[in-house]
Amino acid sequence: MKSDIKYDLLIIGAGISSCVFASKYLQNNLTKKVAIIEVGRGLGGRSSTRISKRFKGWKLNHGSPNFNIYNRNNNLLLKKYIDELLKKKFIKIDDSDIDYLDEESNLETVYNSEFSSGVNYHSLFSMSELSQKIINLNNLCSKIDFYFETLIVDLKFNNDEWTLTSKTGVKFKSKYLICSTNLLAHKRSLEILKVNQIPLRKAIPTNGDKKIDLLLKYLGKQSFIPRLVFLIYTNENYRYKDCYSKKYRYFYLKKKFRE
Ligand SMILES: Cc1cc2nc3c(=O)[nH]c(=O)nc-3n(C[C@H](O)[C@H](O)[C@H](O)COP(=O)(O)OP(=O)(O)OC[C@H]3O[C@@H](n4cnc5c(N)ncnc54)[C@H](O)[C@@H]3O)c2cc1C
Repeated sequence: MKSDIKYDLLIIGAGISSCVFASKYLQNNLTKKVAIIEVGRGLGGRSSTRISKRFKGWKLNHGSPNFNIYNRNNNLLLKKYIDELLKKKFIKIDDSDIDYLDEESNLETVYNSEFSSGVNYHSLFSMSELSQKIINLNNLCSKIDFYFETLIVDLKFNNDEWTLTSKTGVKFKSKYLICSTNLLAHKRSLEILKVNQIPLRKAIPTNGDKKIDLLLKYLGKQSFIPRLVFLIYTNENYRYKDCYSKKYRYFYLKKKFRE
């Protein structure tokens, strides 16, 4: 029988949010035993990068290519953190154009969309490397135990202790849990994890905690938008018609073209 693995803090998900959190948390809690459990093979989650074994140096940010922050000045902590990343040259302001593209190749520049409002930033490396750099700030990475390719399918909360169970039956225990994904709190978990109750709801039944009830109600209304990223191959001598000098240009496909 496998024995339980105990930690001071467990984090589910290794996306960019959990990398930021873990790096900040460990700066102030160096003696704590922390584990990050992630179903994927590496860091970054929806802000990560594919590499090719065949073509050396080939990289594709297949989730978010950049990120936009529209309330930076209202949130001092966030402002400070973004300034820190800018100063360390982990990110830079992304002033690339965002265009709508139709089936006739007509372009229309987007000035305001959910992904362009506020200030846009992009990584000075690939998106996966950005997560790696963040979590490795001050060499804190060695203080964390990483469990990749580990899918958590069940949560329990008894006597002030969380027990997480992976698909292969490994159990992790901790007093504190950061759930850096909404999968375990959203109804899509029923289909994806093949469970008969949302794991967070199962761990904390209705009326067990008002905040959890509110959270689950809020998440219950969230739908989920499937997105695709296309990579356009061009020949080596490709020049955009206006001699485009910026490194990136983002295209959204107009509805008809998308269909
Ligand atoms: C195609 C695409 C384009 C985007 N474009 C933009 C953009 O232009 N600008 C912008 O600001 N944002 C964009 N986004 C959104 C942005 O990527 C996300 O908001 C951000 O990456 C979320 O980070 P996160 O760390 O909060 O969560 P995630 O990156 O989702 O991390 C959660 C992690 O948890 C893991 N996980 C989930 N459930 C379990 C489980 N049960 N057990 C173990 N591990 C689990 C997942 O594998 C994942 O790695 C885009 C996203 C996509 C997919």
